Order: sequence, then C-alpha cells, then structure tokens
Amino acid sequence: MVRVVPERDPYFRIEDELVREGVGMFDMITPRGASELIVESPRHDDTLATIDPEQLEDVLWMYRDRLLDLKRDSQIRDILLSRRHKKPGVSPHHPYSRVTAIPIVFDEKRRELREAREYYQYKRRCLYCDLLRQEVAVRERVVRLTKSFACLVPYAARTPLEAWILPRRHGWSYEDALTAETAPELSTLLSQFFAALARDFGDPGYEIVLHTAPNVRSRILLGEWATIRDDYHWHIEIVTQPEAANRVGGIFVNEVPPEETALKLREAIGGDSGF
Ligand SMILES: [Zn+2]
Ligand SMILES: [Zn+2]
Repeated sequence: MVRVVPERDPYFRIEDELVREGVGMFDMITPRGASELIVESPRHDDTLATIDPEQLEDVLWMYRDRLLDLKRDSQIRDILLSRRHKKPGVSPHHPYSRVTAIPIVFDEKRRELREAREYYQYKRRCLYCDLLRQEVAVRERVVRLTKSFACLVPYAARTPLEAWILPRRHGWSYEDALTAETAPELSTLLSQFFAALARDFGDPGYEIVLHTAPNVRSRILLGEWATIRDDYHWHIEIVTQPEAANRVGGIFVNEVPPEETALKLREAIGGDSGF
C-alpha cells in the first residue's frame, strides 16, 4: 500500500494564484505548486533495500500518477521526485519520496534540457541515446543491463558511488514510459541496486532524483521545448552521500575512477549482469 499526503507546512501550495512580478532588476514569483510525500510502506523501518519489489513497483506507479495529475495544471512548470536515505542530522523516519511541483524549471533540469537540446540541434540525435550506445559498447562503466534499462556509473561521477539508470529505449517522459512490462523490471533493478549498497558498501546515505520532462503544458514562449520529445531522455540519478561531495569552484572532485565503481557494483549485485 502506498499513500500520498500533502506536506505539513509546505513551501509550495496549489491554492496560490500565480503572480510574476519584477522587483527592480530581480524577479519574484508566488510559490504556486505542491509539496507532497509519497509514503512507500506501512512499515516504519523499511528502506529501498528491504522493501519488496512489488511494493516498490506500486511506488513507481504512484510517481507516474502524481506526475500526470500535477502536469494537468499549466501553472506548474516542473516537478521533482526525490528520495533521501540517511540524511546527516536527520533521525531515521518512515520511508517516503518527496514530490515538489513548482512554477519554474529546477536549475539542474534547466541546464540538462539546454545541453540536450544543443546537442540535438548540432547532431540531430539524442544525447542520452548516444551515451547509452557508447557505454553499452564499451561496457566498463555499466553496472547492469536488463531488457529495458541500463544502470551505469557516469563518466564524470560526482561522488564515488554515483549511478544512473536510463531506459534503453528513447523516451522523453517517465510517465509515458512506465508500462506493465517496464515497471516490474525497474523496481527489481532498483531493489537489487539498493540491497547491494546496504549489504556491501556500508549502507551509505543517498539521494535519488527522477529526471523527467518538465510540464510542456506550461509552455510560455512560442517554440519553447519544440524538440523536447526527441532531444530529452528521462533517467534516474542516484548520488551517494551528496553532502560529502567535494567541490572546488563549482567543479566536482571525485578521486575514484568510474570504471572501478562499476566493477565493484557489478560484483556486489552479482548474478547475470545482463551482458
Ligand atoms: Zn534518447
Ligand atoms: Zn539528469
């Protein structure tokens, strides 16, 4: 059973009228949006390492339902689905994912969208499809391949155990790509990954973020996101101990080579890695 509850004391509220205002050279926008918690399990001490894949699959469907529902509101431009495990200074709590819907596009997403679009304008190909083709051919940074998904350590990983999960088939939005076939595959892959992290890597804290297309219904400018269906490719990013990331002048410094991490994760997950 999975439940959704609005967050008490939210930053963003659906009831707010959207107002954009200039404050001299600055911009102000009302916090119209939504803050919700998706309660993943009735068991207080469940984690993604202990929850069964069927239960996790229900959570994945709930992600889809919340995205579809919130995207009907054309004032909402972007929705972040994220999940934290073991945040320093926060005592262990009931397992939940967080939904944050806002009237602007999140910074990280905006940068990703721009880079994907520029790559597409130049090459006429999806950046992520190209990345997948190359990584699957080279294999040294691949953690696991299933029929529909690839789990890999990104070439420029921000922290030692960063991993991404990408659908192997092009798709710009998670909510369109989740099907009766892909959902159980994804939940099994996530379960195996987090069980391995808990068992063989000392159960580190992590943050998961689902990167899916923003709300195209909120298009403001003519031609905005014109090629997004072809240039953007949804994916999941998992960053372990983000608070320990070492940054110098905005650049991430990570001394563990991604190939080494991928090999360790491959061994920890064990079984048939899909090759
Ligand atoms: Zn693609
Ligand atoms: Zn991303």
